[in-house]
Amino acid sequence: MKILFIGDGQLGQMLGASGISHGHECLLFSTRSNTVKPLSAQLDLSMSLAEAIAWADVVSWEHEDIPADIIAAAHDKFLMDPARIKSLTDRRAEKKLFDDCQVPTSPWQTYHNVDELTKILQQAEQPLVLKAARGGYDGKGQWRFGVADEVAEVAAAAGQAPGIAEQMIAFEREVSLVGARSKDGSICCYPLITNVHERGILSYSLGAIDPVSDALQQQAEACFKRLTDALNYVGVLAIEFFVVEEQQQTKLLVNEIAPRVHNSGHWTMTGANSSQFDLHIRALTGMPLPLLRLTPTLMLNVIGAEQIPAGLWHHADTDCHWYNKEARPGRKVGHVNIRTANRDTAQQWVSQWAHKLQVLAD
Ligand code: ADP
Ligand code: MG
Repeated sequence: MKILFIGDGQLGQMLGASGISHGHECLLFSTRSNTVKPLSAQLDLSMSLAEAIAWADVVSWEHEDIPADIIAAAHDKFLMDPARIKSLTDRRAEKKLFDDCQVPTSPWQTYHNVDELTKILQQAEQPLVLKAARGGYDGKGQWRFGVADEVAEVAAAAGQAPGIAEQMIAFEREVSLVGARSKDGSICCYPLITNVHERGILSYSLGAIDPVSDALQQQAEACFKRLTDALNYVGVLAIEFFVVEEQQQTKLLVNEIAPRVHNSGHWTMTGANSSQFDLHIRALTGMPLPLLRLTPTLMLNVIGAEQIPAGLWHHADTDCHWYNKEARPGRKVGHVNIRTANRDTAQQWVSQWAHKLQVLAD
């Protein structure tokens, strides 16, 4: 089949590479330069967007913020309603979806301006996280509020644009579920992945390491099924959860979803017979979803570093991925997948390498 991906960042490149290995033809559309590109090369193919859409059998995306003109022009080439998916880039719509699907999430309310937010903060009895409704990622567009904090200062900063105020969750850890749904509604999910963030940005993920209970996995997959059924979703989707202890029971609260392949699924390029990119391609092209065989894998993000040290390129247990992006503090420029036996050995890798691979913004 012929697949056009909207977006030419690392996720688009990795999707395209997987598409090719499954025997498909792939092109990327750069929303930055408005050009159609081949995989892996910064070349303008001199093909118009309309021509690329006509060429494609199916159109998919690396990021759900799909430009409105593409939604209109490619409407019959998407496998689901792209406008519905794009609407989820607004945190209010995303939280409403969780409530509509009755998947547990942190209590939340909306605000439109400084005055409304001021009232919410004055009445707050518990710490809150404030999130801009639109445009936030990697912890950007977020503010923390403790009950003893200065209301005016926080309201002035966070109230400039509409947003949500949600209860700060004292989670035990953060996990994500990455899986795919086919057109016929069948699903295939990896085991819950443990994620550790630094300053709001994913630092590392533990894939098929440190398994959670079957009950927790079932809770997560039930959420996945409800949400993807509601969206009539086809392809890979990730759910970020907080793991909380309530009355001596372990529970999951949905934090946010990513209707696309996700950074916390990158370990599957090494640790699974079928990666998250392969799963997405299979779902898009109507191939059967696989039975999974997994190897414990640590995924360590490369953030703001100029390069991956030679010691990591030159190691039998590592797979290094470099995105060919200019390094800036806080910007993801690569990742390293490391085959490792268990949580302790993974932690040793993290202690040894994270500070060399990660330069975070202030
Ligand atoms: P994004 O990943 O889009 O920047 P998130 O909502 O996932 O936004 O927030 C980033 C990180 O901030 C989360 O992974 C988590 O560590 C922390 N965080 C977000 N919301 C809450 C909350 N309600 N309670 C506690 N921590 C939170
Ligand atoms: Mg997140």
